[in-house]
Amino acid sequence: MASSDATNIECSIRREGDEYVINGRKWWISGAASHRCKVAILMGKTNPEAATHLQQSMILVPLDTPGVTIERALPVFGYQDREGHCEITFTDVRVPASNLLGQEGGGFAIAQARLGPGRIHHCMRTLGAAERALELMCRRVVDRTAFGKPLASQGVIQTWIADGRMEIDQARLLTLYAAWLMDKVGNKAARTEISAIKVVAPNVALRVIDHAIQAHGGAGVSDDTPLAAMYAGIRTLRLADGPDEVHRMVIARRELRRFAEGDADTWTSAGDLGSAR
Ligand SMILES: Cc1cc2nc3c(=O)[nH]c(=O)nc-3n(C[C@H](O)[C@H](O)[C@H](O)COP(=O)(O)OP(=O)(O)OC[C@H]3O[C@@H](n4cnc5c(N)ncnc54)[C@H](O)[C@@H]3O)c2cc1C
Repeated sequence: MASSDATNIECSIRREGDEYVINGRKWWISGAASHRCKVAILMGKTNPEAATHLQQSMILVPLDTPGVTIERALPVFGYQDREGHCEITFTDVRVPASNLLGQEGGGFAIAQARLGPGRIHHCMRTLGAAERALELMCRRVVDRTAFGKPLASQGVIQTWIADGRMEIDQARLLTLYAAWLMDKVGNKAARTEISAIKVVAPNVALRVIDHAIQAHGGAGVSDDTPLAAMYAGIRTLRLADGPDEVHRMVIARRELRRFAEGDADTWTSAGDLGSAR
């Protein structure tokens, strides 16, 4: 189901005596192909009749439990990630009731607590990649001559470099601001700033990497530089951990709420913050 709206989750977690029985199918489970991955944290519905945000629970599922099948590892733009992004089926999987994390119905609250730090971590790595792409672009254009002069002397390329530097620095400051807020007021209160960097960082990085690819010519789309793989990996971050549009919705709702205080429900959508990855 559409996981930009985690209220759509359909995986079933049913209590039977001292056990929970799990049935479901999920794709894009990052890391599941790693030999070090032994336990999945699974989110599913323990009570589809409960209030929207109290239907889901999280539970630990050892990957060697009968009924757990890793169906395939999905490529991203043809690249196979070493740790894998897997599709897994769970068929009558039984785990002890004590594997439940927290309380039944507490899945959304746990997701909220975890997703903030996960998202800012993605942004930090993304900014590192952008910085590397900018460096590769600068090295290349200083070295490469076309039409009798170094590429670095072309105004258009200087614009790419200047824009890259400005945008990376802006994104870094926004990331540091979100991190500071998380320390000061907590993940929940900082959620719109976390959403903001989750939109800004991948988009900035993709622009810088794209210009670096262009400046490298054919080499940029080959595997002789890391740029093509970087682009493929970071492009997924406009989807994973919540698509750009959902994060923009969270930010816009906060802005709008200030102008429609008496009508706050109009801006509330059930699934937004739950957007489970
Ligand atoms: C490489 C990769 C790794 C991933 N790793 C994990 C993982 O480890 N664990 C995990 O649980 N999930 C993981 N995911 C899943 C990821 O979180 C989802 O793909 C993502 O949340 C989007 O859900 P969806 O694919 O079902 O798209 P959908 O929910 O079908 O959304 C499709 C599109 O609809 C649009 N849209 C949705 N809502 C709105 C809105 N309110 N306003 C405007 N437009 C909207 C957006 O453009 C969105 O991209 C991964 C995905 C990828 C690609």
